[in-house]
Amino acid sequence: MIVVVKVGGDLLANGLSKELIDELEALKKEHQVVLVHGGGDIVTEISNKLGHEPKFVTSPRGFRSRYTDKETAEIYTMVMAGKINKEIVSALQKRGIAAVGLSGLDGSLMRAKRKKQLIIVDERGRKRVIDGGYTGQVEQVNTVLLRILLENEYMPVIAPVAIGEEAEPLNVDGDRTAASVASALKADRLVLLTDVEGVYLNEKLINNLHISEAKEVMNNVGAGMITKVYAAVEAIEGRVGEVVIASGLGKEAISSALAHKSGTVIHR
Ligand code: ADP
Repeated sequence: MIVVVKVGGDLLANGLSKELIDELEALKKEHQVVLVHGGGDIVTEISNKLGHEPKFVTSPRGFRSRYTDKETAEIYTMVMAGKINKEIVSALQKRGIAAVGLSGLDGSLMRAKRKKQLIIVDERGRKRVIDGGYTGQVEQVNTVLLRILLENEYMPVIAPVAIGEEAEPLNVDGDRTAASVASALKADRLVLLTDVEGVYLNEKLINNLHISEAKEVMNNVGAGMITKVYAAVEAIEGRVGEVVIASGLGKEAISSALAHKSGTVIHR
């Protein structure tokens, strides 16, 4: 199988855990594995240390994102494609896993177009149109490059940075990047690992969602989870076999998610 795993920022605060490295090592023995990472909180932390206060915006549908001006784009790329990506690669290499760290710039792995404008909701609840900055959505994935790596038993480790039309780095959402990569590869599974057990509705963990239910659920989950459910829907529509949103905090996080023993499974 081709399995795409995305690890969220909270799982990276103290580096990739031993348990997750165990899981990735075991998974790679049986399958072709691509790892996509987030790390927004770490970008925020470094940005603050550099004296560049991060700004966040919320769309009318409830998607929250970092407002990325030119300087933010530089810091974002430095931290995502540098610090975080290389720390993960280093931890995997230490275990003997042949990891290759990539951003969307490398080999034009992920192409995106800059958003010209963003519609946001301001503090008073009013809609406003602002310049799009350096953000975009992945539109094209260089699967040739990924397949060369996978067929030669490397594990691509992908930072959520895309290449724009003028070869500029763009901030792209980690969950949706994972969905784009999984769709492009026609992956069998996409596992979105985060810091909660899965999708909760009325304080109850949902085990299973058909894609049509997932589309409805999107209106009833909060910031953070809405992006994951959206990414899951995009992946299923992109012909990924199945998506699981699960916790990456405990032991056997990936194997139990793949076995439907944990998390929320989204299927067609
Ligand atoms: P990550 O950094 O792992 O990608 P996020 O913090 O962006 O994750 O999103 C996960 C968060 O989404 C959870 O920690 C939780 O606080 C929030 N969330 C909002 N609504 C829900 C919901 N209905 N079910 C589960 N989590 C939710």
